[in-house]
Amino acid sequence: MGEKYKVAILTGVGQAEITEKELRQPQGHQVLVKVDSCAICTLEQRMYNGVMKRYPFAGGHEASGTVVAVGEFVKSLRKGDKVAARLLTSCGECYFCRSGHENQCVISFMANVHEGVGGPGGFAEYMMLDAKKLYKVADDLDLTHAALAEPLACCVHSINNANIGLGEDVVVIGVGIMGAFHIKLAKLRGARVIACEVEEERLEVAKKMGADLLINSKKVNAVDKVKELTEERGADVVFCTAALTKLAEESIQIVSKAGRVIMYSSFHPDNPIDLSVNKVHSSEMNITGAVNANTRDFLAATRLLSSHMVDPSILISETVPLEKLDYAFKRAIDPKTYRIVIKA
Ligand SMILES: [Zn+2]
Ligand SMILES: [Zn+2]
Repeated sequence: MGEKYKVAILTGVGQAEITEKELRQPQGHQVLVKVDSCAICTLEQRMYNGVMKRYPFAGGHEASGTVVAVGEFVKSLRKGDKVAARLLTSCGECYFCRSGHENQCVISFMANVHEGVGGPGGFAEYMMLDAKKLYKVADDLDLTHAALAEPLACCVHSINNANIGLGEDVVVIGVGIMGAFHIKLAKLRGARVIACEVEEERLEVAKKMGADLLINSKKVNAVDKVKELTEERGADVVFCTAALTKLAEESIQIVSKAGRVIMYSSFHPDNPIDLSVNKVHSSEMNITGAVNANTRDFLAATRLLSSHMVDPSILISETVPLEKLDYAFKRAIDPKTYRIVIKA
């Protein structure tokens, strides 16, 4: 065939290069996808700004596109289908994969999509993937939105871990993209949602995503305010979606007896917090985390997007062509932006 396609590869701190790979036809269970969109997540930002150094790295794990061709054993997809790709993947062989915790897989983490370079590889014109990594989305779903299936799936996983009951009080700390998705999903679960944030603009986003009550924690003491709003009980569920030790501590102060705290953010550096073991004992609070997404979370996320029950449009700050990857990374690193989406 001899046709080539472009792949963007991170080659060092602040360095992105576009290389060319041979375009092949899918075999067996493989599917050739023409990439439409790929969002820049924190993993790629850390790789770009040198917090993580694993070069060369074909980044981009929040990708969507259209099926171009399928291998002879593919049954669920056909040419022209719109798809979202689950690129942070799992081996299917280890203990955790087999016990229903694929997000805790100990063997494989990222799909290797392009020949000769590691990484999920969504910053590219084409991707060759196994059919099991692709999730069909509705024909009328904007593929820019479909690219956000992965971050939404991680939030679905977190919401599932919190086991929210109808009418419960849920506090979401931090209204970045993850906080915003948590707000929307907690509303869909029938909770009263209280959003805590220091930026007024982000509180506006919280409101648009459905938050019932807004707390500007720069102006008022969030712990006191949540207590006041909940007859001094505290919240049934608290999601900590901002990576600040002080906020992790506040999450534990804000939660009610028999409540659940979900540490959603990862912490780099990992500074421990003070924790009263006796308070955990006597209050029966449940402190847990949420990391990545299982297949069923990913499926739920694609259904929520396909049915337009979750509209992520206000969380997309800008779309940028693949050739301007450097500019896109600079925009993505700016704390004022939500998602920057690369268009192949
Ligand atoms: Zn992501
Ligand atoms: Zn595994």
